[in-house]
Amino acid sequence: MPDSKPDLAGLEQHELERELVRLGHPRFHGRQIFQWIHKRGVTDFALMTDVGRELRQQLAEGFRILTPEVVRKERSSDGTVKLLLRLADGKQIESVFIPDTPSQTFCISTQVGCAMGCAFCLTGKMGIDRNLTPGEIAGQVRVLAAELKMLDVRFNIVLMGMGEPLHNYDATMAALRILTDEHGLAVSPKRITLSTVGVLPALEKLATEPVMPNLAISLHSTTEDQRDMLVPINRKYGLKELLDACRRFPVKRRERITFEYVMLDGVNDTPDDARRLVRLLHGIRGKVNLLPLNEAAGIPFERPSDDRVNRFAQILSDHGVTVSVRKSRGRDIRAACGQLITESSRTNAPGRRLASLMPVSR
Ligand code: SAH
Ligand code: SF4
Repeated sequence: MPDSKPDLAGLEQHELERELVRLGHPRFHGRQIFQWIHKRGVTDFALMTDVGRELRQQLAEGFRILTPEVVRKERSSDGTVKLLLRLADGKQIESVFIPDTPSQTFCISTQVGCAMGCAFCLTGKMGIDRNLTPGEIAGQVRVLAAELKMLDVRFNIVLMGMGEPLHNYDATMAALRILTDEHGLAVSPKRITLSTVGVLPALEKLATEPVMPNLAISLHSTTEDQRDMLVPINRKYGLKELLDACRRFPVKRRERITFEYVMLDGVNDTPDDARRLVRLLHGIRGKVNLLPLNEAAGIPFERPSDDRVNRFAQILSDHGVTVSVRKSRGRDIRAACGQLITESSRTNAPGRRLASLMPVSR
């Protein structure tokens, strides 16, 4: 029978404290245990030496501390490291370490698969299997930090792995509160970037959160019709509404929204597209990150030449839009953007796409 004891690694500090009080213990033990798990990476109750022996025993009997298990670790020639992780129910996800960009960056997943079905993304091809829990989302950072001996090093976190973070809103936000907690890894929200295709109701909610990551919007197109095709959620929440929501989004001083734009040869990379993009972004505190397509079998598009990418970037820059071109990392180990897809889901029954995303009405 599977072990169904509650997992303490997915609780925020105040929830752990409440649990300890419920068990009849002083509140501060909650903080101690939170520190052991998230700051020191210790998940064996027996090693939590400043917690009394009796309490440790009681906890070990009633609870567990889950950590995603490393199944495979691959290192790219450029230093990128990809971890294949197994979760408690056997599902698998991928997390990536990208060195020197110029900072150290962890790229983590929020779902097993993804329901959004973007036309150029391998994860999208999987469909959605399930949401990750707060413990599984935050746990990836704990595992990456431990594996790479980076528990005491500063790093950035990007929610750009498998899944759409705003389609798993509550768990993602709980994980961010765990990761930013001063008694845990204490990652500054300024070092965290959430990337989304624009699930509008969730984006509006994000605008009101006390823990606010940087925002990256996966735009990819400058017309409603084309975006409907490339990013199907556009049929529900269109480009215009998305950009209006971005205009309202409370961007902090000196910060900007990143607009990601995957470049598909001959599809969305013409000078006209570039000029339309300039007009669309007018009045938004934003910058553009161009992502030349990472090609893969089964993806019906091609990567444009460097010349085409540079011409597109030049038009943006000539019109005063800050633009960068993302250097693709870890392509030799399939760790680059949009290339994350796990074995378990390839061999299992095909994933689902959420029916609610598919209507073409707006
Ligand atoms: N679901 C979220 C976050 C994960 S995807 C989102 O889509 O924003 C992270 C980024 O990788 C997105 O901008 C996505 O559009 C991009 N991406 C997906 N497939 C890609 C591919 N084949 N080549 C380059 N970038 C890709
Ligand atoms: Fe999902 Fe992002 Fe891939 Fe689209 S690009 S299918 S939202 S992971």
